[in-house]
Amino acid sequence: MTDGAGSATSRPRLSVEPEGSVVASTKTVDPIELSSRLIDTGVADERIVRVDNALSEIDDNVAVIEAFSNMVAFGTDDGLVCFDASGPLSGAAVVESLRGWSADRINTLLYTHGHIDHVGGSGALAADAAARGQPAPQVVGHDNVIPRFERYNATNGYNLIINRRQFAGLPPNHPAQGASLRHRGVGITSDEPRFLPADALWPTRTYSSSDSLSVGGLDFELHHDKGETDDHTWAWVPSHRAICAGDLVVWVFPNAGNPQKVQRYPLEWARALRSMDALEPELLIPAHGPPVRGRERIATVLLTRAEALESLVSQTIDLMNEGASLDEILQSVRLPAEWLERPWMRPIYDEPEFVIRNIWRLYGGWWDLDPAYLKPSPKAALADELVRLGGGAEVFAQRAQELVEAGDLKLACHLIELAVGADPSSASLHGVRAEIYEARRAAEQSLMSTSIFSAAAAESREIAESD
Ligand SMILES: [Zn+2]
Repeated sequence: MTDGAGSATSRPRLSVEPEGSVVASTKTVDPIELSSRLIDTGVADERIVRVDNALSEIDDNVAVIEAFSNMVAFGTDDGLVCFDASGPLSGAAVVESLRGWSADRINTLLYTHGHIDHVGGSGALAADAAARGQPAPQVVGHDNVIPRFERYNATNGYNLIINRRQFAGLPPNHPAQGASLRHRGVGITSDEPRFLPADALWPTRTYSSSDSLSVGGLDFELHHDKGETDDHTWAWVPSHRAICAGDLVVWVFPNAGNPQKVQRYPLEWARALRSMDALEPELLIPAHGPPVRGRERIATVLLTRAEALESLVSQTIDLMNEGASLDEILQSVRLPAEWLERPWMRPIYDEPEFVIRNIWRLYGGWWDLDPAYLKPSPKAALADELVRLGGGAEVFAQRAQELVEAGDLKLACHLIELAVGADPSSASLHGVRAEIYEARRAAEQSLMSTSIFSAAAAESREIAESD
């Protein structure tokens, strides 16, 4: 067994910031050393989710390539078993890192789930196999990976738009070019016309609830649980006492609420985390962020994440059972602030408020209990009416700016939306709107929020400056 330090790369490490910018950090090269310190101290004292495609050997014949997303590789007597192929723009670099560690053929590529940052790089693996005269890997995933891929193709335009918004903070049809997207999207958002790359490998073997794989003398137990997605696989590798967790464990607050994506399953997610803990693992390998070694540290990470998800579900359902509206629930359900300061739980990607909305959607319906919004008037008609009553769009815009000064950014956003809704072609109103959303973005912590507010600001900035 190696401690990983000797084999880890010494090149500068890059990390993802909430805004999607890339920041150099060279403090701790060895990912196990990093995760151990973060968990033992409870202090996030350096960048955690690193995306520089650097490979670290973390156990005998086990390597992790930290990328957007990570690849995990197991050496066997019959070639490599790899978990995830990373994203469309990082796949080739991940393959290059892998090949610096092993020239063996990739026997099996296992998808933890079908998100683009986990499958989009698979074309690079296929190209590498072809160049080496090696057979293409078998590709294993849950049954629902295939309908996910079909859905991605059916909703290609939508997914391109939300990916540009979520990872690059850009509205639809923004004229940013590929190079700038590549930088802003940290290797996930490109200007390609296809969301699911044409060369992505589709699963060749799927399963429904559990499966076992044996490759070259190494056994893998595959488990399906819903959580971030409906197609998730996590794996138990008994000989290493290791769990490959996919996105069920990543070094941010669980992505169970994403405002632009399909349903997530927080309670099922928590159950999966408790099932992992029950196996008493010694090595936990997430799909984003560093691997974790040590029974106690792993239990801490798994059980605190489970507890947070369970708390959001039970608080929300209790209020639903009392007849509370979505608004009342959003204003009252909270997690203890100290839970959100843990280095593996910070709400810098998704956030609890969005998880509450997903719980409402999962256990209830889309209606928020406001009868006016069951079959609402057109937004523009409501804006026209209110703005006319309130003395005009300029009055609303001015009051919105005062509210920004007073620190009520939420209310300021409502007022500027009404102003622009009533007079959508006004360059000066869009100039105010851009400023307000730039301020709103600066006040937020999660990528989900900052990117949507950035996109709104960029949309209005375009109109304001085209005048
Ligand atoms: Zn992911």
